[in-house]
Amino acid sequence: MKPSVVVDTIPTLVNLVLDDYVKVCSLKLGSKILETISVNSQKVEDVKSLSDEGKYAYLLALFNKSKEVFGPKVAGRDLEKSVKGVMSRFGVTKGYLDLLAVLPEGVLEEEKYTLLQKGELERKIKERTKELEEAKEELSKRISEGSIELETERNKLKLVLYNVFDGIFALDRQSKIIAFNKSMEDLTGFLESEVLGNNVDDYVKFLNADKEALTSDIYYPSLKVIEDKTVYKAENLTLKGKHNKEYHVSLVSSAIAEGGPSNVGCIVTIHDVTTQKELEVMKLDFVSIAAHELRTPLTSLRGYLTLLLEANEAKKMLSEEELVYLERCYLSSNQLFSLVENLLNVSRIERGNVQLNREIVEWSPLVSQIIQSFGSLAKERRVKLTYTPISTSTKVNVDPIMIGEVLSNLLDNAIRYTPSGGSVHVFLEPSDRFIITHVKDTGQGIPKESLPHLFTKFYRVSGVLEQGSKGTGLGLYISKEIVKLHGGEISVASELDKGSTFSFTVPKA
Ligand code: ADP
Repeated sequence: MKPSVVVDTIPTLVNLVLDDYVKVCSLKLGSKILETISVNSQKVEDVKSLSDEGKYAYLLALFNKSKEVFGPKVAGRDLEKSVKGVMSRFGVTKGYLDLLAVLPEGVLEEEKYTLLQKGELERKIKERTKELEEAKEELSKRISEGSIELETERNKLKLVLYNVFDGIFALDRQSKIIAFNKSMEDLTGFLESEVLGNNVDDYVKFLNADKEALTSDIYYPSLKVIEDKTVYKAENLTLKGKHNKEYHVSLVSSAIAEGGPSNVGCIVTIHDVTTQKELEVMKLDFVSIAAHELRTPLTSLRGYLTLLLEANEAKKMLSEEELVYLERCYLSSNQLFSLVENLLNVSRIERGNVQLNREIVEWSPLVSQIIQSFGSLAKERRVKLTYTPISTSTKVNVDPIMIGEVLSNLLDNAIRYTPSGGSVHVFLEPSDRFIITHVKDTGQGIPKESLPHLFTKFYRVSGVLEQGSKGTGLGLYISKEIVKLHGGEISVASELDKGSTFSFTVPKA
């Protein structure tokens, strides 16, 4: 059943629609279309004279024909356009939707379907909106839970970093402080809140061993790194705090490859060694005082033993056995004396109390002179001691006594650690700025694993003690420090059971 409004409206509409439809079609598509849409070759005028029902039927037929030609969508849209245009022209506001709703099957199917589904659609939209809102709520709940978790983790990390025993601070790529932990606050006297965002050099001041400022451009050279790595490392630094309080520290600066997007430049770790340093100074003080105190009685002991030996030489008052004992006493007192001397040297070196009295000397004759003083020891040990002097100038700028100690030490070792029948050969090799002195022996050699420790304090190759050698393990350490003070280097090449070559450089004048 058609609703009454439709029954009333349709006849007028159909007339107008027909007119307009014909106009629309002729305007848009031309006469060819008019022919196409003329059902049974009827003329437009013929259609106009039809009864209302006839026109309605014609309209339907027209629509069906158009549908064949253009498809239901285009045909429906043209029809719809015409109906709408006519309605607005005559101020008809009702009836269009009803018209669409009552059109027979297949006419304006899409529009009809849409209309009928409108309610359903709205319901579905509401449902979907509700679902979306619920999902949104769930999502924001999860996001806020996630951010709480993230915040907790961040706080945990911050807390750990803040309370790490070592001082830690981080810089961005412009050397501005972006992290500063509690130890750094204690060391510098500045609070994290005071320093954040400020240039590090204004707050964290380091001095190197030569009391020169160590600024961030040195420990953070802003190179671009492709992997996380240590970019600077230093020991023996002084960190000057807010009230000029000084700490002895070591520093390690690491750059981060992934730091780019978050603008993290480097992370610097500061290890406070002030207490160790103080202990070391106390230890050195103790050693130096003890050595000084031992020196006087030892000198007198050696003196009386020498007197006794000389008296016995003249008067032969001791039995052979007693003489052996006396000689052993004398030897031991000598060893003790050289240990005391070495300990004093070590403490002087470590406190930086060694003053070089440099002078310009000819090195080759000095070497020759020192070698000669080892002639009797070499003879006693039955070791052949040779030297190849060089005739060209070998002027060097050294403290002859100190550098002489180095050569003496190396010769003493070379002779002592070479079995009888072996040889020790000394030769010089001039280079650009230095003269290299080599002491080569055919002795027992040094095991590979001992080589890295050889120049450290009190190090002795295991086994030498059992072999009865009476060294202190300080000679090479002292030698290395003396050579270093002269700006030179000392090194060793050795092969077990074949021999060793110790070499050191002295600066040319
Ligand atoms: P030491 O008083 O024990 O000789 P040094 O510091 O002079 O102390 O030497 C350290 C150790 O190095 C020695 O104990 C010895 O084991 C080894 N050494 C030094 N020179 C030689 C050498 N020419 N040949 C073999 N071993 C050596």
